[in-house]
Amino acid sequence: MFDKILIANRGEIALRVVRACREMGIQSVAVHSTADADAMHVRMADESICIGPAPGTDSYLSIPSIIAACEVTGAQAIHPGYGFLSENQRFVQIVEDHDLKFIGPTAQHISMMGDKITAKDTMKELGVPCVPGSEGGVPDVDAALKIGEEFGYPVIVKATAGGGGRGMKVAYDADEMAIAFATARSEAKAAFGNDEVYIEKYLTTPRHIEIQVFGDGQGNAVHLGERDCSLQRRHQKVFEEAPGPCISPEERAHIGKICADAVGRMGYAGAGTIEFLYEKGEFYFIEMNTRLQVEHPVTENIFGVDLVREQIRVAAGLPLSFTQDDLKINGHSIEVRLNAERLPNFTPNPGQVTAYHAPGGLGVRMDSALYNGYKIPPYYDSLIGKLIVHGRDRQEALARLHRALGELIIDGIETTVPLFHALLQEKDIHTGEYNIHWLEKWLDAGGLDR
Ligand code: ADP
Repeated sequence: MFDKILIANRGEIALRVVRACREMGIQSVAVHSTADADAMHVRMADESICIGPAPGTDSYLSIPSIIAACEVTGAQAIHPGYGFLSENQRFVQIVEDHDLKFIGPTAQHISMMGDKITAKDTMKELGVPCVPGSEGGVPDVDAALKIGEEFGYPVIVKATAGGGGRGMKVAYDADEMAIAFATARSEAKAAFGNDEVYIEKYLTTPRHIEIQVFGDGQGNAVHLGERDCSLQRRHQKVFEEAPGPCISPEERAHIGKICADAVGRMGYAGAGTIEFLYEKGEFYFIEMNTRLQVEHPVTENIFGVDLVREQIRVAAGLPLSFTQDDLKINGHSIEVRLNAERLPNFTPNPGQVTAYHAPGGLGVRMDSALYNGYKIPPYYDSLIGKLIVHGRDRQEALARLHRALGELIIDGIETTVPLFHALLQEKDIHTGEYNIHWLEKWLDAGGLDR
């Protein structure tokens, strides 16, 4: 096992990794930008080292600085968290070239899944059901129009190198295709430096269901059920739960086995998430994320496993510590993402936290790097915490969420907390009847004002 792990991230996820390290008796090294010198992850890790100025590109994304930080501190492995360098295959290659261990899958698996066309082709070959669409990239508008005709509108034009909901445009008919195609392409070029796009049938009322998988690269692979992340704004998740309110045990076992078999056959090592759209009882693969997800705690809650601990063990060459038969679902868990954003427009709202009180009690987990007096820097993602609850069933989890939100105090900045108070008043949230468009429609209809 490693003696010392460097965490190439910040905020709540860096704390999450520090916590796993401490329980395993592993020393942790925090890296930070000059803007984060007083951040909680720096305070909580065993050691810390400054790796550059405030902008992410000069610090948390600076590969030479991170490698140098490992050399200076003697860390043997790097946990990338999510975002930043977590799915950067060049980084993984460089880490390995320096005889360090990347806590995550191989560079080859990351690049395979980072290119969405290759990912879809691979999954199709492994028997995973995919959204119908173009065979590979679509070179020009004429080809796009042919595909629109073949599959029928609406269709969605998506960036091959996509991520974070960027480079995606829907065309509802042939007239809209030229603009959708050009916009998706130029967005893709600007965001990813790669303007290749592909086209999929646009599903109109799907849910977003993702399967958590884990492989150890030694022939063992399991699934840890699904998370329903359908409540999204601009393709960004805000509320996640496990198990999915609409997924039956039979469906879970069926799609779970397909996913576990696929990662087993790939020889995949580490945590991964296979994302699907789910409509009328059918699953359609959209992408695989080769890292820990923001919403992993809901899965940890219902299965009683520590996914970060497992990532570290697998990276150290140990086999999975559980089998599929060991994994039994216990209750229901919900996570809400707390962002430093001003409603109703969700505009980023960094600033100084003048008072902070985290909720507690049975079944409540608060993953956050906030503290009293903390000054949230304006340079990074607006996620400031995740409130995660666990109950014996969905109803209890919702009641607990309501109770915990009532205890939470974050003063000095505006946050998305009022959004969740409002959502908990809605019947559809209680019955679990929502799809990926529900939240935006509700916001457009003035849901926040009621
Ligand atoms: P990204 O990697 O940018 O997050 P995804 O492929 O995961 O892109 O898609 C993000 C979201 O966009 C999905 O959760 C869903 O809301 C929407 N989406 C993507 N593909 C489709 C599709 N074929 N039909 C309907 N919605 C889609």
